[in-house]
Amino acid sequence: MRVMTDPVDFAALVNALPDPVLVVDTDVRLLYVNPAGTDSFGWRPEHWLGKSILDLIHPDDVASVVSSTGTMQAKRVGTPVEVRVRVADGTWKWVEILGRNAIDVPGVEGLVVAARDVTRRRMWEVAANDTVRFQQVVQHASSITLLLDRAGNVTSVNAAFTRLLGHDISYVVGRPLITFCDADGAAELALAIEKAGSATRTVSCEVGMRMHDPDSPPKPIRFEIVNLLDDPVVSGLVVTGYDVSDLHLTRRTLEHLARHDALTGLVNRSVLLEQLEHVVEAHDTAAVVFIDLDRFKPVNDLLGHEAGDELLRVVSDRLRQIVRPGDLVARVGGDEFVVLAYNVPDRANGAALCERIDATLSMPYLLTEGPVRVTASVGLALSDTDATVTGLLADADLAMYEAKAARRGEPERSVSQRQRNANERRRLADDLAAGLQRGEVVAYLQPLVSLATGRTTGLEALVRWHHPELGVLAPAAFLDLAEDAGLDLLLGDVVLRSACSSVRGLDPELRLGMNLSVAQLADRGLCGRITTILADYDIDPSQLMVEITEHATLTRRAGGGRVSPEHTLEELRAFGASLCLDDFGTGYSSLTHIRRYPLAAIKIDRSFVAGVVDHAEDRAVIAAMVGMASALDLRVVGEGVETEAQLLALKTLGCHMAQGYLIARPLAPADVAGWLAAHGADWRAGRDASVLS
Ligand code: C2E
Ligand code: MG
Ligand code: MG
Repeated sequence: MRVMTDPVDFAALVNALPDPVLVVDTDVRLLYVNPAGTDSFGWRPEHWLGKSILDLIHPDDVASVVSSTGTMQAKRVGTPVEVRVRVADGTWKWVEILGRNAIDVPGVEGLVVAARDVTRRRMWEVAANDTVRFQQVVQHASSITLLLDRAGNVTSVNAAFTRLLGHDISYVVGRPLITFCDADGAAELALAIEKAGSATRTVSCEVGMRMHDPDSPPKPIRFEIVNLLDDPVVSGLVVTGYDVSDLHLTRRTLEHLARHDALTGLVNRSVLLEQLEHVVEAHDTAAVVFIDLDRFKPVNDLLGHEAGDELLRVVSDRLRQIVRPGDLVARVGGDEFVVLAYNVPDRANGAALCERIDATLSMPYLLTEGPVRVTASVGLALSDTDATVTGLLADADLAMYEAKAARRGEPERSVSQRQRNANERRRLADDLAAGLQRGEVVAYLQPLVSLATGRTTGLEALVRWHHPELGVLAPAAFLDLAEDAGLDLLLGDVVLRSACSSVRGLDPELRLGMNLSVAQLADRGLCGRITTILADYDIDPSQLMVEITEHATLTRRAGGGRVSPEHTLEELRAFGASLCLDDFGTGYSSLTHIRRYPLAAIKIDRSFVAGVVDHAEDRAVIAAMVGMASALDLRVVGEGVETEAQLLALKTLGCHMAQGYLIARPLAPADVAGWLAAHGADWRAGRDASVLS
């Protein structure tokens, strides 16, 4: 063994050191660097000799170099610091430096700095810190993160799994991920895991994951699987899972909106067309029923759009209830609907369906604003072997229009027929003018009785025309004719005179009902003429009960001598007459509307009375009307009572009075006194009990 003795070649020794050594002056200018330094930092020494090494230090670390140099100058030995040093290739290396003051050492005359590359160690430290931080991030991430082994068993899983699905982590780890899938998704997820195991790219799938709570429906989760089986650190399949419930909900909502009507929830035209397409292609036997509401617009105009919307919703509900499961109800326009009924073998069956729809939609509607009655026009088309979608719809639409025309009493007529009708009308109008003069127009009187006592409390004047050739005509045959011919005011006077002559001298307690037309309501002179007529027959104005329809009160007539209905009615009331709202429920009376008039009574339209026994809806509407009326202190009359059962039902529902064929038909003038003598005190008097019970 050789022992090193003097003289040692120190220059060679320093040159042979594995760590960088450099010498700087007090301004840290480089005086010397050994080969290890040159290697380590890649500098060419001649480039840096005589220059400040601070230019090679990371800006954030310059301060610690300066302070360490200061310490070194004062104490001879500095403290080690770790700084970043720029390497020739532009990257940074972590270097631990320790200096010693050798200013006084001859041959050195500077600060000796020993440096050591600690980059690797620093990287490990940072990485270790990052790993801990990263685990925290994963653990608290909102999406599921889990690790699977090659067989698909869960090896680790974050808290999101428990938070989203409720399964305990300790239960999950070690089990195949597919055990937590719903039955439909298991195969799909298994396939995705298998695919990911042999793929390098991300594999994704969307499956329903079972919830821990067996009563909750599975949750849709979108999984993305990355293969890191070959990564020595991870060595598994990394699975990320996102809860896509909201996405599904939004998607479903959008799909629903695109295919359904927002107001009624019924399917829209595009779905109908789609289904019709299927019917036509498959040559199915189906019925297409086109439905249009007849009086929807007035509901909207008079009661407001909310009432209109409410009505449309009820109509939709009723349609949904009539059709068989599997049939389709679509809303195809504002107040237009189409029913597509499958397996309708023939026209008779289709017609029966139409009748059912017609009957159901004609039942009264009890809206928040009040009771309403609308009807529907219904048109039928049946699919046959050479049906087309447009053909079917057009046929049903046409049939609907024909039904509407027929309902309005306007069947399709030829020109010559129309001509003939016009001529007939003109002749009839001439006849009416003459008939009014000749006393052919008279008032029949129909009794109104108290439901409590059976006593007749009033008589309603109903006009009849004893036409010399056509016999006794009812008002429907000539009232609009009178209006068109401007004879309606005269007709009103004639009827009142006729009625007054019949009741003159009878019980002064009896109310005399008089129906007022639109023209009469707008007539400034009406009150004066009524006063005169009543006086002529010695009848007190308080005996008069004026009947108006909502239609009449709503129709405004402009022009000279015309006044508003409100004005006329107020005038009539002031002079002692009472007011009754006729045909209640067929217009669109809301409470506010009724309140505007000084009413004493309402007459429930006979269409409701007709249904009072068999239809719960009619009963409900009448009950609501009675409630509304009693809140306003109004008397309630049921009109058109034809059976004992109807009478009893009206009485039970709280109606005060009744009128109808059961009690008496409108009586010809000559029969009035006789009928009252026999039945006035109690309409049942002298009747066959078996008929009445
Ligand atoms: P309204 O005022 O509602 O009269 C009741 C209608 O129901 C009357 O028809 C009456 O005959 C009928 N009726 C009464 N009981 C029953 C029953 O049990 N079953 C059935 N099915 N019907 C019954 P009418 O006489 O044909 O009058 C029809 C409408 O013509 C009246 O309805 C009224 O609005 C109008 N009207 C009648 N007379 C006059 C009048 O002198 N002037 C005006 N402006 N209009 C009149
Ligand atoms: Mg009336
Ligand atoms: Mg009526």
